[in-house]
Amino acid sequence: MSCDLMALATTGVQSLHPYEAGKPIEELERELGISNIIKLASNENPLGPSSKVLAAIEGVLADTTRYPDSNGFRLKKALHRHYGLDSHQITLGNGSNDVLELIARAFLNPGDEVVFSEYAFAVYPIVTQACSARAVVAPAHEYGHNLQAMSEAISDRTRLIFIANPNNPTGTALKHDELVAFLNAVPEHVIVVLDEAYTEYVEDEDFPDGLELLPHYPNLIVTRTFSKAWGLAGLRVGFAAACADITDLLNRVRQPFNVSHVALAAAEAVLDDQSYLQRSVELNRTGLEQLEAGLKAQGIGYIPGFGNFITADMARPAQPVFEALLREGVIVRPLAGYGMPSHLRISVGLPEENDRFLRALKQVLAC
Ligand SMILES: *Cc1c(COP(=O)(O)O)cnc(C)c1O
Repeated sequence: MSCDLMALATTGVQSLHPYEAGKPIEELERELGISNIIKLASNENPLGPSSKVLAAIEGVLADTTRYPDSNGFRLKKALHRHYGLDSHQITLGNGSNDVLELIARAFLNPGDEVVFSEYAFAVYPIVTQACSARAVVAPAHEYGHNLQAMSEAISDRTRLIFIANPNNPTGTALKHDELVAFLNAVPEHVIVVLDEAYTEYVEDEDFPDGLELLPHYPNLIVTRTFSKAWGLAGLRVGFAAACADITDLLNRVRQPFNVSHVALAAAEAVLDDQSYLQRSVELNRTGLEQLEAGLKAQGIGYIPGFGNFITADMARPAQPVFEALLREGVIVRPLAGYGMPSHLRISVGLPEENDRFLRALKQVLAC
């Protein structure tokens, strides 16, 4: 790009690095001319879609010439039935990444500060910088959130704090009591965004439910997604839950038709398919056990994780391991961009996919 055009961009955008997504299967097919590839790189649901979702999609395809319901009335009703949320508390998004960006645009002026953790989700620095706000990165504790350090990072200029629970890419989770103590100590001028993209997978009793905390904290926003346990990553739908005043602000910056009619119908249908969610969670539990046991057997360390992925320490530069796995037709996620150059993140797949990854890894590490 010519320098003149670069100078026209906002200061934040000038130094922004775009998000690096997991490598698509078709791309690797084109590059290597191989088939039978498995992708364990984007924390997608390996189960395939709920049959109720497929039926709902078919039912609305003929409405393709119409704009979707910009208020998402039916999905909000379903969210009310399912979670007890009122429609004035819900902001629907084109995936939860969309609502993360709406939050940044609603609350950040250039120069404002945003606190998040070392090893946090890559979207937080992107939306921060896109608003020419300043990222303040708190050091992690054992790859998880260090809430003490995050508290200390708050200043008069802090507007937002992002916390993912469980965290991606490390899989760590905060317990109920420590999160509540943190929320109690956060000053009122700071909005806390609790990103619960993986919450459905967590079966631990001490694990907090952000939606239950909402009534106590007017400065809390909880984000959820249909991309993971609900199996709708390709359709792009998620939501933010917050008090009515915050929801009103988010709605001001939201594009009117940000969620397609297909995605709205699919999300509404899958919320009524509890057995799909149960199967997702069970498949994930056994898959995590399988991956942990397989890594242990190879003497490979990993971070104990609560999401639908495992983050393993190769104890050597992981990029060559990632590339060698690609040549075996196995796509995982290297984490050098997250400051974790010796780690790989592996999404839980079907049992045979997990097994194929473990065998490929053994072979690659033997060379
Ligand atoms: C996957 C993920 C999301 C969800 O993104 P969508 O836009 O809803 O697909 C949000 N936050 C974190 C931490 C994630 O890992």
